[in-house]
Amino acid sequence: MSKHKHTKIVATISDKNCEPDFLRALMDAGMNVVRINTAHQTTESAMNIIRNVRSVCDCLAILVDTKGPEIRTKNIVEPIKINKGDHLTIKCGDEPSTQGVLVVDYHYFTRDIPVGSSVLIDDGELELTILEKTEDSLIALVGNDGYIKNRKSINVPGVSLHLPSLTEKDRQFIRWAAANDLDFIAHSFVRNKEDVMAVQEILNEENSKIKIIAKIEDTDGVKNIDEILDHAYGIMVARGDLGIEIPAEKIPAIQRNLIRKCVERKKPVIIATQMLHTMITNPRPTRAEVSDVATAIYDRTDAVMLSGETAYGQYPVEAVQLMSRVAMEVECSKDKRNDLSVPRLENEVSAFLAEAAVLSASELKVAAIITDTLTGKIARYISAFRSPRPVYAKCHTGKVKRELALSYGVFASEIVVKKNKYKLVETSLLDLVERGCISENDTVVYVGGNFGVGGGTSFIEIASVAQMMHQKKAKDGK
Ligand code: PEP
Repeated sequence: MSKHKHTKIVATISDKNCEPDFLRALMDAGMNVVRINTAHQTTESAMNIIRNVRSVCDCLAILVDTKGPEIRTKNIVEPIKINKGDHLTIKCGDEPSTQGVLVVDYHYFTRDIPVGSSVLIDDGELELTILEKTEDSLIALVGNDGYIKNRKSINVPGVSLHLPSLTEKDRQFIRWAAANDLDFIAHSFVRNKEDVMAVQEILNEENSKIKIIAKIEDTDGVKNIDEILDHAYGIMVARGDLGIEIPAEKIPAIQRNLIRKCVERKKPVIIATQMLHTMITNPRPTRAEVSDVATAIYDRTDAVMLSGETAYGQYPVEAVQLMSRVAMEVECSKDKRNDLSVPRLENEVSAFLAEAAVLSASELKVAAIITDTLTGKIARYISAFRSPRPVYAKCHTGKVKRELALSYGVFASEIVVKKNKYKLVETSLLDLVERGCISENDTVVYVGGNFGVGGGTSFIEIASVAQMMHQKKAKDGK
């Protein structure tokens, strides 16, 4: 097994359990990104998480997950009892829900939902089928016994709704994330490019460089993935809601296809939800869960995510440790021939050099790929070709360093020197030698660039670390 874990781990953290010692233990176990689920937070409670994460390490990226547009049950004082075969009236408006009449909080519900639709309540626990439409209501047939409670989720699989891109709470959290210089906004229920652009607009107003992760969780998001990827930094395959909106048996193929799209576009992808679900209460996962994590990595995901396992589970550190062990095992046994070739645009120098670097790391006795990166782009490009050797990215800002916490196989750290390319190579290598990442006798691949106008990635060199450092001295006439 390799000593490096290339697959990134995103762990959901709650304000109820975010002490620095706990966060440090998760980081030592392999956590790279902290996810804050705003559905369960206020900006004040989330602030506590941020303070603690920052006290542990400035290398941990922070991802804020918005609630996104959604429909919920409304004005229910006493849970509505329903029995299979009952008829239930559904309305939108401000009247109270009663036994026999369910009010929902989406103004156009009765207009938008066609007869024959299946309406799922409370994460799919209860199912209704729409039988009839009247002027201001829908008549539904109840599919199973249960109680409908207040503020429960409503999904209508396969029906495109005209919900706004953002709620007021989303706007508040996005502005708050910008003010606190966080790293990623994962926006829920992204259906099209307009949903991503709405988030981007707020970030632009706030002069923020936060990167947007589009959560793909319904049919529209899957269908419009190409235009979404034109605007988003990366995506999350949010299998919880996706599994309600789309039949569960279709999810594995969708997951594989979405990962392929992201790798082709050289953008990070996270596979989320129920990866080690039983570890919320059990110290050991099921064999199927281990296989699920492994499959996502064989599919070539950048990152895997934990939700309840780390937010409120009984075995959070064990879950991250287990995920790390599975990742390292799978990364070693992956057959490179199964990797898709990553397309390069015509005359795209960065992609050409990135591919050449990974090819040499695969075919030659090379210890690592090293690159310096201003925007993170070349590191993400190298990552897309899935190097079997670690990619050490030397970044000029902490922000870019943290953004790379989502990219497969990239180990990012900061560098201060900005003088010239020889000094940059030397300083990068020295730092990595001092930290024990490489030794002077190792052969490495360096992917670097020129400074100033027309800069960008322009060369790749394969040599021993000592030779590369000596070259700089020779240049200086020392
Ligand atoms: C999901 O649905 O899988 C998901 C990650 O979203 P959330 O947990 O925010 O509902």
